[in-house]
Amino acid sequence: MPANIPLHFVDETQIKQEYVNQSVWLEMSGFVGQPGTHCLIPSADGELARVLVGKPAKFDTWTLAELARSLPAQKYELADEFSAEIATKLCLGWVLGQYRFTRYKQTDADALPELAFPDCADQRYITIAAESTYLVRDLINTPALDMGPEQLAEAAQKLAEEHGASCRVTLGEALLAENYPMIYAVGRASAQSPSQAPRLIDIRWGEADAAQVTLVGKGVCFDTGGLNMKSSAGMKLMKKDMGGAAQVLGLAKMIMQMSLPVRLRVLVSAVENSISGNALRPLDVLTSRQGTTVEIGNTDAEGRLVLADALTEASSESPELLIDCATLTGAARIAVGTEIAALFCNDDATAQALLQAGKQQDDPLWQLPLHQPYRSMLDSNIADLNNIPNTSYGGAITAALFLREFVGRQRPWIHIDFMAYNTRRLPGRPEGGDAMGMRALFAMLQARFAR
Ligand SMILES: [Zn+2]
Repeated sequence: MPANIPLHFVDETQIKQEYVNQSVWLEMSGFVGQPGTHCLIPSADGELARVLVGKPAKFDTWTLAELARSLPAQKYELADEFSAEIATKLCLGWVLGQYRFTRYKQTDADALPELAFPDCADQRYITIAAESTYLVRDLINTPALDMGPEQLAEAAQKLAEEHGASCRVTLGEALLAENYPMIYAVGRASAQSPSQAPRLIDIRWGEADAAQVTLVGKGVCFDTGGLNMKSSAGMKLMKKDMGGAAQVLGLAKMIMQMSLPVRLRVLVSAVENSISGNALRPLDVLTSRQGTTVEIGNTDAEGRLVLADALTEASSESPELLIDCATLTGAARIAVGTEIAALFCNDDATAQALLQAGKQQDDPLWQLPLHQPYRSMLDSNIADLNNIPNTSYGGAITAALFLREFVGRQRPWIHIDFMAYNTRRLPGRPEGGDAMGMRALFAMLQARFAR
């Protein structure tokens, strides 16, 4: 068996000192050790002998991610020694960089290079984090035609079965009987196909005496905007509006596979915000599970409605930690762009722990304030709340404040408003659906709850 081809990290000084024999080749290749570049070095008989990789100022998860796609399909190993932490990051980035969504491609995908992971790398964590990220990406990338509420529930059921968790689904009219009126109202117009009826997915896992962690996900499998219909451009990516659901399922997978000692509950509101004769209308008033009445200022602000009923149920058990993830507002993207998850939290220490974990995991979040004076923007003339303020200023904040009305006295509560989609290709992050903040959340949970 031929030996693995070594990958050497080099900077400009090392190139000059250690690669004198290759100086002509390196010069002709234009390789000077710049981070993000690499150079293939042939042996005397013309085989690929080694790869020089520009040494970054700081090694992170994405350092090797691009090479995982672009190197010739051979077997490689790291020539340099790394700490367990860095080796784990480098290998995880490698695997994340090799993701491809091939479900609808008839042609076979090209072979990819392989990397022998160093012994010190945490193979178990790498596999679990990568599989969970792949799950999130697959769920989001699958078009709404094949990822409606029914298929999302099937994916949740499959995940639960794989880990010995229970999964209960409250479907269609049963949502009314069990008092989830806003989930029903948002999803009831997807009547074309009965199997796409709205539903609440409820997964439970773990030991009864462990600390409870509850995850809530927005699973709007397609968002037309409802009668307040979106523009063509605004609607195009809306298969991703179940990204919050995908992310909490991915996080649940990490928690269960890593056997985190918690009692886990996952609630996903799975609906399609569709247009039909029975669609929710502007200025209709709904009574929520909590009893609060909500005037519908805009049918496109539906995510907060389906989350509200699930958050009411989640907080009724007073879990030790409540986390919701949602592709909730365009305003959050205006504030921090598509590549940073916006964080809201009613507990400063928890927020700090999560922000720190995000830095540690190269999985960035940025905290926005639950600025109470803006709460009055959600006042309605005829109901307890309006689902949308009259102004678009601070839209991510007012959406978070809307959710807080349904969280009650629950503390800590984390709300993540994120894109769930890479609008451009980055190392390790192909264009398309993605988890954002999931590895940070897991690291924070691990630090908080692991024995
Ligand atoms: Zn919407």
